[in-house]
Amino acid sequence: MDSLALQERLVERLLSPRTQAQRSHPAKLKDHEKQYVGFATLPNQVHRKSVKKGFDFTLMVAGESGLGKSTLVNSLFLTDLYKDRKLLNAEERINQTVEIVKHTVDIEEKGVKLKLTIVDTPGFGDAVNNTECWKPITDYIDQQFEQYFRDESGLNRKNIQDNRVHCCLYFISPFGHGLRPVDVEFMKALHEKVNIVPLIAKADCLIPSEIRKLKERIREEIDKFGIKVYQFPECDSDEDEEFKQQDRELKESAPFAVIGSNTVVEAKGQRVRGRLYPWGIVEVENQAHCDFVKLRNMLIRTHMHDLKDVTCDVHYENYRAQCIQQMTSKLTQDNRIESPIPILPLPTPDTETEKLIKMKDEEPAQECLQVKMNSGILFLSLLGFLPLVIPTCPPPCKCATSIIDCMSKGLTVAKLPVAFRPSAEIINLSYNRLTSIPSGLFDNLQSLQAVHLQGNPWECNCDILYLRSWLQWQQNRTLYRDVRCASPAHLQDRVIAYLTEDEIISMCQYWYCTLALYSQLVLVILLFLQAILVVFIIVYLRRYQRMTAEARSTTRDLNQHADTWSLQEQ
Ligand code: GDP
Repeated sequence: MDSLALQERLVERLLSPRTQAQRSHPAKLKDHEKQYVGFATLPNQVHRKSVKKGFDFTLMVAGESGLGKSTLVNSLFLTDLYKDRKLLNAEERINQTVEIVKHTVDIEEKGVKLKLTIVDTPGFGDAVNNTECWKPITDYIDQQFEQYFRDESGLNRKNIQDNRVHCCLYFISPFGHGLRPVDVEFMKALHEKVNIVPLIAKADCLIPSEIRKLKERIREEIDKFGIKVYQFPECDSDEDEEFKQQDRELKESAPFAVIGSNTVVEAKGQRVRGRLYPWGIVEVENQAHCDFVKLRNMLIRTHMHDLKDVTCDVHYENYRAQCIQQMTSKLTQDNRIESPIPILPLPTPDTETEKLIKMKDEEPAQECLQVKMNSGILFLSLLGFLPLVIPTCPPPCKCATSIIDCMSKGLTVAKLPVAFRPSAEIINLSYNRLTSIPSGLFDNLQSLQAVHLQGNPWECNCDILYLRSWLQWQQNRTLYRDVRCASPAHLQDRVIAYLTEDEIISMCQYWYCTLALYSQLVLVILLFLQAILVVFIIVYLRRYQRMTAEARSTTRDLNQHADTWSLQEQ
């Protein structure tokens, strides 16, 4: 199957929510309906609702001016997003400060609506002194998180507008010999906040061998400087070989070398998007010429949802955890909660808001439950059982009602609390010295929603099995993408949730096996000794029986003789 057909199949699989039952003959559907309860249609319901609601995606582009950012965005989405752009001359560019410019377009394809927001950063990297030129960009990303955090904590949570930046395409100059200091600093400042996808801009300025070398160099430097760029998720093991191959190729192509063009030229009798040179034509969508198609497929067709998930579950969760941590530390300091974010002046409540307030006020069921719980706790406390039901905050962690914060406390496995309070919803164990999690630590925590585990030197040996299986049971695995092995060398940087059992078991220390073997041997010897003992007892009992019988008959004989002797004497 050629790669285009495969891509089409992949897209179809990703886009089409139709079930097998739905594809089958309508007459047969009646039989199916008799056999099934009907929850197989859930994907359709979700699909319909999502299509109705539409999708949104926010893409940031960053890199110095003239690297082809606008051209590439227009080529990617086949729109003209930069109609009103004012081009600056060299002098204006040097004096320009970094700006954040948002362009929004509503795109519709086969009835599916996408609200696309492009966040451009003109002026980035253009000045002579670029110290901290990424600050307005990090501030912008933080502001979006902050807004979302406020909206989420507000009353009208249903209609939150998600303006968080889901992906940042970072353009690297093709003319350098790898990353420039400003590239490194930019990516390091942003890698914890946004999914960074590095790109080699204007790849038509380099020959294939130069592109290969530059890619290798950039990959090395990304590793060397500890930059965390967007990691493509691991392929599920049940995917077919072709899909896995395509996934491998995608990963190997990073950082993508791209070419952009807004003009259509004629090549081999076909009209294609490309750049015309005296020596020939560079086709934007030709995979032999550049990685544009791979980038477009990744961004739009295959990984858009994952980029949004990672933004929500990793980057936003980190921001939220920091906010909550600040709240709890303020709580312990001042013994009162203060919002870590500046409080906006509250708008005067409109009728909608008033309605919501009323609804919130009238939550009798919840209040009733609370009263019941409180009286239960009071009863238990009177009986003196409370310490057994709710363990106090384990030292050295800090606790709020449902949050246990043990971040950066130098915890090792030995120093970990033996149990957490059952009401815990969020446990923060990040940035400690944990190499594994003791078996069963998170079991029986019914309210647990998330555990922050990043920044620990996880050792992926036998002891990691509990953590791995716990991670695999989590619905939201993207939250745990940063939970990676620190050792052994061959498993370094692998996502723990995606390790196979064989990979871990091969790391189990051999003394476990030897111990098991010796235990078996000792057991066999003990069984053998027991068998000998039983035989010995049986033989001994038989002999005892025989001797008793002989003694009885001798006594009987003696008694008879004694009787005859006494008769004779008479
Ligand atoms: P921006 O300032 O980063 O948004 O860059 P533009 O998209 O405005 O492009 C600047 C110039 O580079 C324009 O003249 C484009 O035609 C040209 N350009 C854009 N993409 C490419 C490319 O892939 N290769 C080459 N050689 N030139 C490009």
